[in-house]
Amino acid sequence: KVRVLSGIQPSGRLHLGNYLGAIRQWVQGQDEKENYFCIVDLHAITVWQDPDKLRAQTRELAALLLACGIDPQKSTLFIQSHVRAHAETQWILGCVTPLGWLYRMTQFKAKSEKEKQESVSTGLLTYPVLQAADILLYDADEVPVGEDQKQHIELTRDIAQRFNHLYGETFKLPKAVIPKSGARVMGFDDPTKKMSKSEVGEYHAVYLTDSPDRIRKVLRRAVTDSGREIIFSDAPEKAGVNNLLQIYESLTGKSREEIEAHFAGKGYGDLKKEVAEVIIEALRPIQERYQVYAQDPAELDRVLAIGAERARAVAEPKAEEVKRRVGFVLPK
Ligand code: ATP
Ligand code: MG
Repeated sequence: KVRVLSGIQPSGRLHLGNYLGAIRQWVQGQDEKENYFCIVDLHAITVWQDPDKLRAQTRELAALLLACGIDPQKSTLFIQSHVRAHAETQWILGCVTPLGWLYRMTQFKAKSEKEKQESVSTGLLTYPVLQAADILLYDADEVPVGEDQKQHIELTRDIAQRFNHLYGETFKLPKAVIPKSGARVMGFDDPTKKMSKSEVGEYHAVYLTDSPDRIRKVLRRAVTDSGREIIFSDAPEKAGVNNLLQIYESLTGKSREEIEAHFAGKGYGDLKKEVAEVIIEALRPIQERYQVYAQDPAELDRVLAIGAERARAVAEPKAEEVKRRVGFVLPK
């Protein structure tokens, strides 16, 4: 069976980009693959998180993932910090990762510019090493992610190759799996920036728990352009319209020709309205199921405990192998 691993940070509320770029693929591949989905709390604290909020967001994220269709019978859903092997292994991988590789990461550059320079943590720089440990510990074949993570998965391969070269064949080289449509959902308030949990603008994103009214409001305010052509386009000035069309494409599964024909002669107002309705319909069943899980914390704990146990059963022996490879004396 193909083994899949992917993660998501409890760094804020889940948005449409997380769903279309990552989670929907996780759900779709569940039946035929062996799946590990990780709530990466160690990653979340690379930027400041209020402790009480982090706790709440972690549970909310778990409930939402189940509501999106992650089935604990078919997939292992767990919290990263419940499996010590991740933090341990990232140390060792960090020791074979040249600093220059990390400075080149665009996410580090973008996020460190946003933070005040002196408050950028070491963790933000070494984040991709921890991500490499997350993936390599499970011998994952595939890592389904949004386009922004492509560079990190390539780095994971580089780290794995370097370790294998230095210490002998240990890690499998994973590949990123990126959806054709919805791989990079842009912010509604600024279509030149990807939608992110950590952005705070009121009209930046649609969150998975948003009410229909809020979704309509956010879409009404979506930044477009002064023209009137509703077409798929890479032109920078069409980024807003293109983003709306891609969301529509991703949620309806219609072809680009069909979509352009459908909107021919219509205005941006119509486009925004229709996209809002398509989003509302897609989120409705998720929101209904979310209510069920959000009200059953005991069930959530049970699922996460089973997940952690299953994850440890894979990650711990692998972490031990890594230690043996580098020459550590293992405890008797
Ligand atoms: P943060 O701002 O805290 O980094 P995030 O919104 O980028 O949050 P992550 O937890 O970092 O979310 O990423 C989880 C998954 O969602 C990854 O696979 C990532 O590629 C995907 N993803 C994040 N943002 C988008 C987006 N705008 N479009 C498509 N996929 C996305
Ligand atoms: Mg991110």
